[in-house]
Amino acid sequence: MNRALIVIDYTVDFVAEEGALTCGKPGRDIEDSLVSLTEQSIQNEDYVVLAVDVHEENNPYHPETDLFPPHNIRGTKGRSLYGELLHLFDANRSAIYFMDKTRYSAFHGTDLDVKLREREIGEIQLVGVCTDICVLHTAIDAYNLGYQIVVHKEAVASFNQPGHEWALNHFEQVLGAKVV
Ligand code: ZN
Repeated sequence: MNRALIVIDYTVDFVAEEGALTCGKPGRDIEDSLVSLTEQSIQNEDYVVLAVDVHEENNPYHPETDLFPPHNIRGTKGRSLYGELLHLFDANRSAIYFMDKTRYSAFHGTDLDVKLREREIGEIQLVGVCTDICVLHTAIDAYNLGYQIVVHKEAVASFNQPGHEWALNHFEQVLGAKVV
């Protein structure tokens, strides 16, 4: 079965100490695992996707405007990839699909499902942040679309530890994911 690795929202705003909506240290602690899994997937010629939140400043129509401080605003430093992932992306641009997303789920309003089906991909591996928000919503859509899901627990993180633990359990018990 063809596989994809989907790296979710590993950007400065979500990970760096000064990020606008940072996961804090748990987000930075997964950097090595997340980067090495991405490297391995490139070497395996799996389909590697970087799904990255994008927002417009002061958008009155977006539901997150009332929920969270502004983050991942188009064209800002906060939206750049964090740490070594940026270098890996720069060195392997032709092997990586960088895609914008505007909602928690990488599937919502994007061409991700089409890209995966074209490539006959049946299994998606998930890494990134936040475990209980964007990773969770992407996993739920993947489940409803019939994909097999693998979540790498050393490469997902959240600012909310109980939420992180809850989501790991939910992936396994409710979405039939392998949590490895
Ligand atoms: Zn957002």
